[in-house]
Formats: sequence, C-alpha cells, structure tokens
Amino acid sequence: MKPNVLIIGAGGVAQVTAHKCAQWAAEFGAIHIASRTRSKADAIVDGIRAKGHEAAIPTHTLDASDSAAVAALIRELEAGIVINVGSPFVNMPVLNACIETGAAYIDTAIHEEPDKINEAPPWYANYEWKRREDAAAAGVTAVLGAGFDPGVVNAYARLAEDEYFDEITSIDIVDVNAGSHGRYFATNFDPEINFREFTGKVYTWQGGEWRVNEMFEVGREWDLPVVGKRSAYLSGHDEIHSLAARYPQADVRFWMGFGEHYINVFTVLKNLGLLSEHPVTTAEGLEVVPLKLVKAVLPDPASLAPDYEGKTCIGDLVKGTRDGQPGEVFIYNVADHAEAHAEVGSQGISYTAGVPPVAAAILIARGPWDVKRMANVEDLPARPFLDLLGEMGLPTRVIDAEGDRPI
Ligand code: NDP
Repeated sequence: MKPNVLIIGAGGVAQVTAHKCAQWAAEFGAIHIASRTRSKADAIVDGIRAKGHEAAIPTHTLDASDSAAVAALIRELEAGIVINVGSPFVNMPVLNACIETGAAYIDTAIHEEPDKINEAPPWYANYEWKRREDAAAAGVTAVLGAGFDPGVVNAYARLAEDEYFDEITSIDIVDVNAGSHGRYFATNFDPEINFREFTGKVYTWQGGEWRVNEMFEVGREWDLPVVGKRSAYLSGHDEIHSLAARYPQADVRFWMGFGEHYINVFTVLKNLGLLSEHPVTTAEGLEVVPLKLVKAVLPDPASLAPDYEGKTCIGDLVKGTRDGQPGEVFIYNVADHAEAHAEVGSQGISYTAGVPPVAAAILIARGPWDVKRMANVEDLPARPFLDLLGEMGLPTRVIDAEGDRPI
C-alpha cells in the first residue's frame, strides 16, 4: 500500500513540496498539508488546482510545536511519511511525534530554538541525533536535512565517495544565487531564519577540528558554470557537521555567495542592532523584537517569485585521492528562477529546497531509503536520489578531467 503523506508548513518551501507531491501523486496514497495558518495551505492547494492536478489535498490547522497534536494528526490521517517543511523551530516536536507514531520523518534544516541564535556545533548532536537510538529502536526512518543545502550537496559528497575517490580530502560547498528580484533589499526565505544564519560566528571543519571566523571575514572569488565569477564567503551551515562526522579527515567548508549590496545593508542592520532577537521598549512603552520588525517590513519572500530572473548554481568542489593520485571534481546543479515560477509559482531558492524532500519521500515509499533508522543524506545511497532529482527538475552535472557533463 502506498503511504499517505503529511506535509507540515505552508511557506515558500512547502509550496514547492506540495506541487511536487501532486505531480508525483501516483507514488503516494493521500496527500495532506497541515500548518499554523490554514488559509496559506488552502492557497497552495488552489495553486496546485490551477495547474490542473486533480488529487484531493485536504488541509488542516496544526500547531506543530505541540508534539501530541502532531502525533494525533498523524494517527487520524494514517500518515506513513511526514515531510516537515515548517519552521526549524518545530523539528523536534515533529520528529518526536514521528518516533512515537512510527511515521517516517523528513526535514530540510537543523532544529533551532527561537531564543538561541547561531548555536555552536555539534549542531545535529545538540538536537536530532539525541533521538537516533530511539528512532532505530522504533524502526522509524528519519531522513535529516533533505533540502538542497543541506541535502543534495550531502548526496554530491557521497557520490564523490562512491564514484570518484578512495579518500576525500576536502569538500567545499558553494551556493551562489545569481538571480535578481528587482527589489531594494529582500531575503530569499524567511528573513528571521536567513539573518540568524549570518549574525554569529562562522564554523568550519578544517584540520580535524572546528575553526571559528567572523562572518564576511574569509571570502574568495569562484568561477562557476553558467553564473560565472562570483564572490562567496565562508559561512556556517548544518551540513558541515554531518559531513565532518562522516569524513573527519577532510576539510569541510561552506561558501555562500553575497553581492556587495546585501553585505552593506546587512552590516548596517546588524550594527544598528536591528537584527537582535532581544526585545526593546519604545518611548511609547511598546515592546518590539527588532528582528521581527525587520522581517515585517521586508518583502514576503514568496512575493519575489513573479519578477525573479536569473539562475542559481550550487555545488561541491570535492578533492581526494584515487589509487594514490590526487584529483578533484565539481558536482553541481543550475536552477532557473523563472522556470521554477512557471512550473510551481515559486522562486528558484524555494524550488531547490522543496523538490528534494519529495524525492526522499518517494525513495522511502519505494524502499531504497526506507532504512528504519535516522540518517543524514550522505549516509544513504546517492545515485537513486540524484537520478530521481534529475527526473524531477534538478539535474546534476559534474566537471572533472574529462569535461562538464551530466552525471
Ligand atoms: P516559511 O517561513 O516560508 O514557512 C514556514 C511555514 O511553517 C509557515 O507556513 C509557518 O506558518 C509554518 N509554521 C511555523 N511555525 C509553525 C507551527 N508551530 N505549527 C505549524 N506550522 C508552523 O519558511 P520556508 O518555507 O522558507 O522554509 C521552510 C523550511 O525549509 C525551514 O526549516 C527552512 O530552514 C528550510 N529551508 C531549507 C533549505 C535547504 O536547502 N535545505 C533552503 C531553504 C529553507 P505561518 O504561515 O502561520 O507563519
């Protein structure tokens, strides 16, 4: 019997995830969406209908921070797979509900606590991995970080391990958005989550230990396929931790592309204290969290989609040795904002993040990823995932000594 799927969240990523579930409905039983604001889930379903998909997609109101409520809904809907694309603040309650009920769990980001910004590593070990034994004991498949980064980039590292090298010596993940939304300033996903990523220290895994830098302290120019020469800066990112656990001998770094304009605006906001999560009180006695205020005045990331042009390039430069000989490969995807909008009504960043968890769900439903334990993406076979993503709109290419070609 095909598993019923419950999508949690109704934001930018969830919209893509829901469209893709509808496109691939033959792989699943019933498809449901549950979120805090049900009207947003209804709007997603309207958009799916407008694309001509017939499958019934019931929507539900859910406070996913309430683990018992999540478990009750999973039981009521007999959901076999939960795709958690809500805010990262709800990861642990949703994961706990899955372990309790036996449903498979998929997410795309590491758990965060609202009052703790930019926690120090080991990130997965701070939260999700604490339940690893419980997931295995319950026979529950939990695939962590199955978006693009983390997610597909972890599979790229695994592909390099499986098909290119005997030993991996470094993994440099590069994420460049060369698109333009035409606004003065906007973030591509939830501003709160976006800024939280960059307001603290930058952690990388180098020389077998964690190294710490300041944000925008270490940058370099990359010459990437399609998008060309771009500046990217060392940033902390979830997947550095899980990749460092699997490849402790390798240097693992994450480079995020930023234009000068973004850095200038970000720096001003930060230096003024407007990215703080600590409340301030105005002269009128109003208590305001500056970060929430900034979020409220910035464009809704979903509203950027219709005007977004250009492409993203995200990939892994992996170095290693084979038969004692050093070598390197760049494994990557290029996505197009306008194509994403035409297909599912979203911009390319949401598209690259929202498609992979559906591929993960399909591989759980079909069996190859139904491992009955907790796993990060690099712990699972990469080929079926990357091949399926190619069919679903996120093809993978590789550049090595033989040139630039599809994997
Ligand atoms: P959005 O802020 O657009 O959407 C989050 C959704 O979660 C909203 O619909 C929100 O509801 C809902 N939500 C929040 N709290 C609750 C709650 N307590 N109960 C039920 N629903 C809740 O975020 P994105 O779509 O941009 O991101 C979704 C996830 O994807 C995040 O975890 C993000 O970190 C991750 N991500 C991963 C990427 C990757 O490549 N790995 C890239 C980009 C994002 P409401 O509408 O009421 O606010």
